[in-house]
Amino acid sequence: MEVFGSSGTRGVVNETVTPEFLLRVATAAGTVWRADRVAVGRDTRKTGRMLADAAASGLASVGADVDRLGVVPTPGLQAYAESEGVPALMITASHNPPEFNGMKLFGADGVELSVGELERVEETLLAERTETVPWHATGDARRVEGARRRYTEALHAAVDGERIADADLTVAVDPGHGAGALTNPEFFRELGCRVVTVNAQPDGHFPGRDPEPIPENLGDLGRLVAATDADLGVAHDGDADRAIFYDERGEYIEGDATFAALAAAELEAGDTTVSAVNVSQRLVDVVEAAGASLELTPIGSTNIISRIRELRAEGASVPVAGEGNGGVFFPNYRLARDGAYIAARFLELIADRPASEVVAPYDDYYNVRRNIEYDGDAERRAMLSAAEARAADADAELNATDGYRLDYGDAWVLARPSGTEPLVRIYAEARDQRRAAKLADGMAERLEDAKTGV
Ligand code: MG
Repeated sequence: MEVFGSSGTRGVVNETVTPEFLLRVATAAGTVWRADRVAVGRDTRKTGRMLADAAASGLASVGADVDRLGVVPTPGLQAYAESEGVPALMITASHNPPEFNGMKLFGADGVELSVGELERVEETLLAERTETVPWHATGDARRVEGARRRYTEALHAAVDGERIADADLTVAVDPGHGAGALTNPEFFRELGCRVVTVNAQPDGHFPGRDPEPIPENLGDLGRLVAATDADLGVAHDGDADRAIFYDERGEYIEGDATFAALAAAELEAGDTTVSAVNVSQRLVDVVEAAGASLELTPIGSTNIISRIRELRAEGASVPVAGEGNGGVFFPNYRLARDGAYIAARFLELIADRPASEVVAPYDDYYNVRRNIEYDGDAERRAMLSAAEARAADADAELNATDGYRLDYGDAWVLARPSGTEPLVRIYAEARDQRRAAKLADGMAERLEDAKTGV
């Protein structure tokens, strides 16, 4: 796809993402959907209203009435789309810096469009096959009040509020000035937690921190947890579909460890879980201990969603899935990543023991990364053939879904070309740092040799 990445389109505003461009994308989506009504939401970015106005105009021009939800977390817009049975457009750049914005697209079931559906929208856009209607048939817009409230009420209905309330927890929340600022501190308070906040005013300039919830941006949250004696720190990205945690000591918890802990609590024998080919050994170990099975997809949440849908159609039970970046799915709740829901499920886990204990079994894992540059397609191909050859003579299970992943049972190594740079990335993980380094170095050596031979 030229226009869309795996989850919509994003870029720097008025460089690649202009009002004109999003108007055309919305017009194309409206043409493909042929829907009477479409919902539009946005995160807190400075450019959100401008771009939402453009998208709404495009939709109206093809005859769709537009429900304007204003600022709402992405999972809140998805909940609205599902309950109203209307497709939806979200103006957001998720975790990207303030100057970025973009659009995510959702079907009338509230689920992200599949790659195939995005391709149809893209074809319509590029071939300029949009179908505008006569003046009297253009759509109307209406402002929808209370979408955020409806979202948090649905959340309350889906979590064990009594268990959380009984635990008398203090939660430090850092919504990062994003859309979660308008819903999540209140949601945790209503769950019976004492809530303290930082960066909790919605502000499209993101004065306190950038929207990406990574440790470099979350020093204030760690300090707030320590200063207030909180039981947990919770951070969200700009559209609040992900959640990252700090333990009661004010220490960052790896997203992979959180995912493993949530999965361990959820998986039973015979269940299936889905993650991407760079999945942590932590999850591999949890899946094995539970007697469940693990399916790996190419990297990107759209691929994970498609696989969950296929598995469920085949009758499989998939209670939990996702990636170690704070984006965990609980498909029995909703086929959407939801930062508030992920956090509430984690609060259930810390109701009777500290967060550091909950994730302790997933602490001692070591990750090693190597990048090998290539110059031109011949070098790239030689390196990938070498990775394939290594897979053939290694005593490991091969997964060639997206690059080459070799699973050794207790450790793994993956060689995968970067989607954006002339690099093959090598990832390795083990419970022993030397073993992880050895696996990464062994793969790197083979690839370097192959490159030299070109
Ligand atoms: Mg996001």
